[in-house]
Amino acid sequence: MTHIIEPASSGRAKCRGCGEAIKKDALRFGERAPNPFGEGEATYWFHLICGACRRPDEFLSVEGASVEESIRQLAEAGQRHYRLPRIARVERAPSGRAKCRQCRQIIAARTWRIVLQIWEEARFSSIGFVHVECSKDYFGTADILPRIKLFTASLSAEEVDEISQALGAV
Ligand SMILES: [Zn+2]
Ligand SMILES: [Zn+2]
Repeated sequence: MTHIIEPASSGRAKCRGCGEAIKKDALRFGERAPNPFGEGEATYWFHLICGACRRPDEFLSVEGASVEESIRQLAEAGQRHYRLPRIARVERAPSGRAKCRQCRQIIAARTWRIVLQIWEEARFSSIGFVHVECSKDYFGTADILPRIKLFTASLSAEEVDEISQALGAV
């Protein structure tokens, strides 16, 4: 399958990574796969940066694409640390029931947790959570703030501070 990077021909497609529309003429990444519902191929569209973060192998397989260095680096980090593309967003745990996939302890209500997803059968499925403090152990790097900010657009400056402190404390 040949994946592509091209300017969006319309503003209708939604990004599979962040759920927001991809503006007409903005560069977008298209992952091609066999159509799960019938014959032929399906294309799954992402903003360039969202594709780099969530589908690094496929993203980097596009030949001859001129991609900003910072975006390419996000994809390369995702290849070095294979769990990084699982980062879907960060959120405060609504209850104290879920356990962390890394340390196996409960994630206390109202504390920050990272939502993990994997791509299977043409969609992202949730596979659980990790404490923000467990990032280094789980992902192999604590350098995840750019991804968290990208996929959690609603974070305030104070919340970003709080999360970066939790990451710095690991
Ligand atoms: Zn996106
Ligand atoms: Zn943990």
